[in-house]
Amino acid sequence: MSEKTFLIRNVAREFAEKYLKPVAKKIDEENRIPEDIINKAREMGFFALRVPEEYGGPGLSLQESVSVVEELAYASSALAIMSVVSGDMVAYPIMRYGTDEQKEKYLSLLGRGGIGAFALTEPCCGSDAAAIETRATREGDYYVITGQKIFITNAPYADFFLVAARTGRPEDRHRGVSLFILDKSPCIKISKMEMMGYRGSGTSTLYLEDCRVPTSNIIGRENEGFKKIMMALNEGRITTAATGLGIMRAAFDLAFEYSNQRKSMGKLLIDHQMVQYMLSEMATLIEASRLLIYEAARASDENRSDLPKLSSMAKLFTAKSGVDVVRMAMQILGGIGYSRDSDVERLYRDIKMIEIGDGTNEVQRMVIIRSLQGRIRLE
Ligand SMILES: Cc1cc2nc3c(=O)[nH]c(=O)nc-3n(C[C@H](O)[C@H](O)[C@H](O)COP(=O)(O)OP(=O)(O)OC[C@H]3O[C@@H](n4cnc5c(N)ncnc54)[C@H](O)[C@@H]3O)c2cc1C
Repeated sequence: MSEKTFLIRNVAREFAEKYLKPVAKKIDEENRIPEDIINKAREMGFFALRVPEEYGGPGLSLQESVSVVEELAYASSALAIMSVVSGDMVAYPIMRYGTDEQKEKYLSLLGRGGIGAFALTEPCCGSDAAAIETRATREGDYYVITGQKIFITNAPYADFFLVAARTGRPEDRHRGVSLFILDKSPCIKISKMEMMGYRGSGTSTLYLEDCRVPTSNIIGRENEGFKKIMMALNEGRITTAATGLGIMRAAFDLAFEYSNQRKSMGKLLIDHQMVQYMLSEMATLIEASRLLIYEAARASDENRSDLPKLSSMAKLFTAKSGVDVVRMAMQILGGIGYSRDSDVERLYRDIKMIEIGDGTNEVQRMVIIRSLQGRIRLE
């Protein structure tokens, strides 16, 4: 870890310990993050991780972003995933493919503490993103967007949305999809959802009714949005995995601490061989996930062609390991771990998301095999 990464990580760790940890339970219960915390996170640049300094952001590499996200997730997965979506999945495609005008307007907005959302998934289709039905129709200098999006993180907090919409024919699949920047507007109706985990991150359904977007707000050319969306996902899978890393570490620490206090059959839990087995297994899965996540992040920072494969491997491995680690943590805490009084219960609900969001485990396996077959290329 470089000295810069070490310092950045410590800043995020202090923020998480001081502000996030005390309210993590409340965030989960109320399904919202208190405004003062959101405002502090804005000031810290957590919604603009990847935004270059010239636009007012911290200009972090992906490896540095991963270290921040892990620390935030250690205390609250909700703020961590908000940071992933806005600071990485929304910022990155604008940085990589946006026009100067788009960068000036939207990266600067993120740099000032604004929040972005990434709207791809629809009720019809999540894994099959090439089948999306939201329609963008050109009318003079505008596109008019109509459709429905679902499970959109950050939506109630967002100042703008990256929206994937169909500009071509349905049978053109991914070759008929474009990517737009849509400002917050009354044409977007937001309905917050009650999810099992990552509560507070604003997961919502969006109803888009005749939203008018200037043609200057398309990212890249018409019908060429899909690869840009995939690049955002390559990045996002790594930082989403980093939220899993934070959750796993939190679960491990709780289990380790408990096993050093709780006695059973005349000795501490940690002195029982079967508990030692679980703790050793958990620590190993955490380290292995971390190594894979950092290698994937390095592939992105170095613009390497193995990014899609490593990104999906990091996400898949962390998701599976995370579910195992938190399950073992709950096992070590026994009945108290299963109760609402324990943080492990929240972590258990949170970690499952990593097996679904940003592409399910099955989708990651598809990307891995296609990469191995040489069927996936970076744009
Ligand atoms: C908390 C949370 C936050 C989210 N945030 C966002 C967001 O900010 N923006 C956004 O756009 N989306 C977001 N999502 C959506 C997420 O990316 C999708 O839920 C995910 O891609 C899966 O899509 P789906 O739910 O439609 O499931 P489906 O695609 O319907 O899949 C259902 C099941 O079938 C399997 N399956 C599907 N196709 C195949 C196949 N070909 N072969 C084998 N198995 C298959 C899947 O793996 C899964 O197990 C979020 C989801 C959650 C839970």
